[in-house]
Amino acid sequence: MPVTAPLVTRFAPSPNGPLHLGHALSAIVAHDLARESGGRFLLRIEDIDGPRSRPELAREFRRDLEWLGLEWEEVPAQSTRLATYAAAAEVLKARGLIFPCTCTRSEIEAAGAVEGSDGLIYPGTCKHRPPDPARPAAWRLDAAKALAETGPLTWEDALAGPQSVDLARLGDVVLVRKDLPASYHLAVTLDDAADGVTLVTRGADLFAASHVHRTLQALLGLPVPRWHHHGLLLGEDGQKLAKRRGSPALAERRLAGEDGQRLADALRVQHLSLGT
Ligand code: GLU
Ligand code: ZN
Repeated sequence: MPVTAPLVTRFAPSPNGPLHLGHALSAIVAHDLARESGGRFLLRIEDIDGPRSRPELAREFRRDLEWLGLEWEEVPAQSTRLATYAAAAEVLKARGLIFPCTCTRSEIEAAGAVEGSDGLIYPGTCKHRPPDPARPAAWRLDAAKALAETGPLTWEDALAGPQSVDLARLGDVVLVRKDLPASYHLAVTLDDAADGVTLVTRGADLFAASHVHRTLQALLGLPVPRWHHHGLLLGEDGQKLAKRRGSPALAERRLAGEDGQRLADALRVQHLSLGT
């Protein structure tokens, strides 16, 4: 690794389910990259998911990270930043860069939407009709208008190299949810900027999202970090590890008396073997 300036990285878990091995790897990668550069490793709780967010899980997350032998600085949770999200959404609205969408998931499916890099690509239904004020609306990025404003953009992944922004694979993503002043994309982009994150680390499953985030940075005049999308741990069946396939939660292993630092070191070795 070339010598770099001190990096600011973060781990940003959502407290709507316990942490698993994949999360541990994300946290370790972010932690180690920050430490090796003499920088800072931040913890941010992404708790805007209303009723699905459980504060007691955030407390467990801190215990899990401590058990893994990590040290962090905690920055304010997303639920304290809603006004910032709403203000950014107003800016995008005023510039006609987002449009209201009242479609339900089944309407989107019925309209023949095709699968993109991150779920169904919005078929554009609401772009051409006045919003029905009686139905709750989400606000979607008008990807074509955004591209017209930003022109071609690039971003840099530490492993995959330079990338050209391609919104076609994601389409008009939701930036403001029906029930919340932001979606993941808007919140995470604003937060990473506010927290001074200079290297965004996360699993390769979120690679495509970075095209949207880079676009939002350009539209909102935010600083542009670098990215590091790490490889995903695979289960014995070669599938991505996920709780539904029975990978035990970190908290369970911790409470069963397993040595967390040994587990962290084993994950570091596995991570090396992923080459990421
Ligand atoms: N809260 C998101 C998650 O847990 C964060 C993803 C990211 O690091 O951007 O998947
Ligand atoms: Zn719609």
